[in-house]
Amino acid sequence: DLNTQLQYAVTRYGPGDRLMVVRDVTRLHNLEQMRKDFVANVSHELRTPLTVVVGYVETLLDSEEQMNPRWKRPLQQMQQQSNRMQSLLNDLLLLARLETSDHTSEDENVDVAPMLESIRKDAQSLSGEQRHHISLQIDGNTRLQGVEGELRSAFSNLAFNAVKYTPEQGDIELHWWSDDKGQHLAVKDNGVGIAPQHINRLTERFYRVDSSRSTNTGGTGLGLAIVKHVLLRHQGRLEILSKAGEGSTFICHFPAKRRP
Ligand code: ADP
Repeated sequence: DLNTQLQYAVTRYGPGDRLMVVRDVTRLHNLEQMRKDFVANVSHELRTPLTVVVGYVETLLDSEEQMNPRWKRPLQQMQQQSNRMQSLLNDLLLLARLETSDHTSEDENVDVAPMLESIRKDAQSLSGEQRHHISLQIDGNTRLQGVEGELRSAFSNLAFNAVKYTPEQGDIELHWWSDDKGQHLAVKDNGVGIAPQHINRLTERFYRVDSSRSTNTGGTGLGLAIVKHVLLRHQGRLEILSKAGEGSTFICHFPAKRRP
């Protein structure tokens, strides 16, 4: 059976003796696949009805002069919450795609310089009245083999998190550089920071240091899980350096030499 996945374990017994354990994990593997497909399908199916709801709420809010003023606030709440639901579904769908599809065929030669400049601008508009100082520095080779849309999601998530978790007027630096080890993007902020016991768990789905704060900032709790998966698919890795109360640095590392 081609689908059969086998796990081997070899244990050394006495001199010359060997014990081999073979475990068939096909069922486990299939269950995991079913879970992923289920999440992807549900997210996809929920998007259409939600689009209809969002559309009608928008229409109602547009006809404000004919509307009972008491309805305005509830409608605004409905709009805000349905937008949240939309981002959540989009993130779940993206994550499901990242986990299931094999992407090497979609690889392109991406210039990250214009991408990072537009992400810097988007982060600045997300900051709005909070007036964070957001800088971008680029050194070295900016051409990267990869999937443009995925890289953009990963880098934006890091830049937007820096804004979300840094008090107003804070400093945020985006720094891209290349060296003999590869290419790197550091996103550094001087915001709330993260206590050491949380750092290893941040890339788990829905893991949050402080859920009340994250709900206020409108995140989905999936951002760093997406970053991790995008980097894995590009044979890269995420490094997180942080100190509570002082700020955080998230570094994406892309290796110079990749496995074929
Ligand atoms: P969320 O939607 O909650 O922001 P993420 O997966 O993007 O979800 O991040 C997970 C958690 O990691 C956040 O809830 C927050 O506690 C923490 N975090 C992420 N980025 C930063 C940052 N730049 N500074 C401090 N904490 C952060």
